[in-house]
Amino acid sequence: MSPKANLSHGRGYLAIPGPSVMPEAVLQAMHRPAPNIYAGELVDMMPGIMDDLKRVARTQHYAAIYIGNGHAAWEAALANVIAPGDRVLVPATGRFGIGWGEMAEGIGADVQLIDFGKSSPMDLEVIAQALDDDKDHKIKAVLAVHVDTSSSVLNDIKGVHDVLDAAGHPALLMADCIASLGCDRFEMDDWGVDVMVTGCQKGLMVPPGCSFVFFNDRAQTVRDAMPRVSRYWDWVPRSTATEFWQYFNGTAPTHHLYGLRVALDMIHAEGIEQVWARHTVLANAIWAACDAWGVGGDLRMNIVDPACRSTAVTSLRLNGNDGTRLRDWVEGQLGLTLGIGLGMAEPGDPARDAYFRLGHMGHVNGQMIMGLLGGMQAGLTALDIPHGSGALEAAAKVIGGR
Ligand SMILES: *Cc1c(COP(=O)(O)O)cnc(C)c1O
Repeated sequence: MSPKANLSHGRGYLAIPGPSVMPEAVLQAMHRPAPNIYAGELVDMMPGIMDDLKRVARTQHYAAIYIGNGHAAWEAALANVIAPGDRVLVPATGRFGIGWGEMAEGIGADVQLIDFGKSSPMDLEVIAQALDDDKDHKIKAVLAVHVDTSSSVLNDIKGVHDVLDAAGHPALLMADCIASLGCDRFEMDDWGVDVMVTGCQKGLMVPPGCSFVFFNDRAQTVRDAMPRVSRYWDWVPRSTATEFWQYFNGTAPTHHLYGLRVALDMIHAEGIEQVWARHTVLANAIWAACDAWGVGGDLRMNIVDPACRSTAVTSLRLNGNDGTRLRDWVEGQLGLTLGIGLGMAEPGDPARDAYFRLGHMGHVNGQMIMGLLGGMQAGLTALDIPHGSGALEAAAKVIGGR
């Protein structure tokens, strides 16, 4: 028996699905006095930032920046193409799809919700049927979440495009890639996505505060036909800015831009394909460990089919209140913070304390994930939570390429 000691002093690890771990280089780039916003370095940086954002999104078309979080990007995207009374189809696979639908309702859209529950991906045949039933093409847009961060499901966005195509339906395909961009493979142009929204604080490794809307010519045509668009959310001046302030409709998010510049450099230096591959291997290591723990224990991954799991976040459940006990223990004893369960059980329902999530998005590497899993192993052991053996070995095999 070793002496009692608290082991949380040292560098902590925030393993929640956003905000994600930030690179030191990003933080250092932001630590500076206020820059001039009328001329000089920051102004000169803008065209490069816009180009490099589009490279991450895999689009040749347009991008607009908003000072705001992911919800702001949701609102911005809707404000440009959805007028009161317009119908949107929302195939939801967790809390975030429902949330985007609520945002659309808030601006007066007629929301047609298809709820696929909390642990399954979208069923493309059901979407195809809804499009087929929409004979007079009332549905103006499909709001599809790529990775729903509550359930950790990965949806087939290209599949949604193919279904629209097969139905000959003109609705815009709008994708939420707030959790997935820079983690899970996403190809805006190749997959036929018309509008994509994302934020800066997940795969893009910058503190919360900026979000982005990408759009193509089809979306711009719909924007042009709108009866009116709020000046603030209008993506036109932001995407065609000739003066610096126009990118932001006011003062720039100065320090975020310095951080973002470095984050984009890091992503492109690694290579986006390599970024995706890193997330895939790390996620596979986590899943191998979870599979092993689940043998003879209560730990379960929310998404059963690995092909439908995001490589950025994993939603898990234990029994009783063991999810919360484990989170509390690894945070208090080890300095490791795991994510709460989100949207899986209603507030007040004791089942809430069974759920938790692991964020593994952005600036994460092999030793961090082995540390995360080792910390969980220690917590399961310390708390006498039943679990199978061999989890760390299973993860190590994946990390080691065996
Ligand atoms: C985080 C997230 C959001 C919300 O972003 P905020 O910055 O919290 O407003 C929306 N959708 C998805 C898929 C997310 O992961």
